[in-house]
Amino acid sequence: MLKDLFKKHLAQTTDFLPIQLEIERAEGVFLFDKNGKKYIDLLSGVAVNNLGHRHPAIIEAIQKQLDKYLHLMVYGEFVQKETVELAELLASVLPQELNKSFFLSSGSEAIEGAIKVAKLYTKRNEVISFKNSYHGSTLGTLNLLGDEKYKRNFRPLIPNFKSLEFNNESELQKITNKTACVVIEPIQTAAGMITPENNFLTKVRKRCNETNALLVFDEIQTALGRSGKLFAFETYNAQPDILCLAKSLGGGLPISAFISSQKIMKSLENGHPLLGHATTFGGHPLSCSAAIATLKTLLNENIISEVEEKSSLFIKALKHPLIKEIRGKGLLLAVELGDKKLVKTFIENAINNGLLTYSFLFNETAFSIMPPLTITKKEIKLSCEIILKTLDSVLI
Ligand code: PLP
Repeated sequence: MLKDLFKKHLAQTTDFLPIQLEIERAEGVFLFDKNGKKYIDLLSGVAVNNLGHRHPAIIEAIQKQLDKYLHLMVYGEFVQKETVELAELLASVLPQELNKSFFLSSGSEAIEGAIKVAKLYTKRNEVISFKNSYHGSTLGTLNLLGDEKYKRNFRPLIPNFKSLEFNNESELQKITNKTACVVIEPIQTAAGMITPENNFLTKVRKRCNETNALLVFDEIQTALGRSGKLFAFETYNAQPDILCLAKSLGGGLPISAFISSQKIMKSLENGHPLLGHATTFGGHPLSCSAAIATLKTLLNENIISEVEEKSSLFIKALKHPLIKEIRGKGLLLAVELGDKKLVKTFIENAINNGLLTYSFLFNETAFSIMPPLTITKKEIKLSCEIILKTLDSVLI
């Protein structure tokens, strides 16, 4: 049995609830298992498949690239058309200052790259993040993780990392002229979709300006349309000095980026024998081709403009005695049930009923709604019917 081999030979990541579905194919918002059972995907591979599964534009771009070449050289040595085009395209949709990209493969690497460049640029070493935040699992990003219980076993970690409370203005005085950078998600996703209140991000921006600390936005989940704008920072009147992207950028292939100004990125080149930062697969031509197709589709079709309306359809339809609150923005929603056991049972039953959802690292009493942005109104109706039916079944 494949499931037994999965458990025997693949290192496991959680004892909470490995989903263990055996998917044979995926199309649009649907996954199909080996028995032909259909699941509506409200996870999008955790905010990756913003255009759904196997979007034709992405498949076509990948197929074209397959006929040209795959890996040629490590990042930054050859002038690869796809890599340059993607960097140019990103610069064209971002504020003028954010015009230089460094491509890597995973979100954690993008965050680590951002921290390295911030340390080099500011010549400071203190890094600030927020409680209940997740920015990756590598030894570098682990320092940012906003909960000591996940870090304890790996100490000693890197010194001078501090963690502040999100949405608490008085905490911002802890950002000082010793701070190299502040790393923050515009919407705290792993905390269960906590949105900024009372212009919190504008205040963080202001404090960074006062102290000359760099502001790093982790838009690894929030970006590429999911919040209702291409980038979530567009909603909150605060522009980062460094922007980190990953997940949805590659349309299903691995690619990440940290993006900043010429001036800041220059510090990666200055004063280093060779390796300000380096990576083998960053800017891989296949991933870049898929990313260009993803971005162009999002820019040219009415997908992002419909996100808010689709979000409201979920919120309006999901009225149930077990639902205490629905938080978030756009198609980044958390449905709060207020009970961990209940959520676990709900997730299991929802999967049996043909709907895929999951809980949050720092909010196990809620389940997520983050479908492909291309989900239709009919598919939203179907999702809500399954959710309500499943909630009825766990109520009894
Ligand atoms: N930042 C955020 C907000 C994430 O959600 C994740 C992954 O879930 C990461 C960073 C790390 O990305 P990766 O798993 O690609 O290293």
